[in-house]
Amino acid sequence: GSNLPDRTAHLAAGRAGLAALPDTALIAASTVEETEPLGGLPQEPYLNQMVLLRTGLTPRVLLQGCLAIEHAEGRVRGERWAPRTLDLDIVRYGDLSVREPDLVVPHPELPHRAFWQRELTELLPYAR
Ligand code: ATP
Ligand code: CA
Ligand code: CA
Repeated sequence: GSNLPDRTAHLAAGRAGLAALPDTALIAASTVEETEPLGGLPQEPYLNQMVLLRTGLTPRVLLQGCLAIEHAEGRVRGERWAPRTLDLDIVRYGDLSVREPDLVVPHPELPHRAFWQRELTELLPYAR
């Protein structure tokens, strides 16, 4: 997701950054959807997109890659849900469950985010 200019360019950089991670391929990308910001802070709407990756990285190393790509896109980490150039969340990782202090997969907000569920449904045919 992105809600700071240029949102489309930040999403593209996110896709490119993920595809360039070691031992990782981008298999499919969902439709881009505009969504209202979460958390009640006044801010611009988001562009959201989900991608399907095939990867040999562990969830933890994948998270590190996500954080590095966000940083490269100029993301400044402020409070949770603050405006950001790029936010990369691991929504699911196959059928694996991870419950650690700084990494929970599937993402705990999945049941509450309809756009994620739409995007998952869209990508499902590409996953096997
Ligand atoms: P939300 O996670 O509710 O969408 P957010 O994306 O705004 O909120 P961030 O500030 O981007 O939250 O992330 C805070 C921390 O969340 C990350 O540094 C990371 O350690 C942790 N985290 C836990 N589970 C996940 C996950 N599945 N994907 C990405 N980050 C996660
Ligand atoms: Ca998020
Ligand atoms: Ca995040």
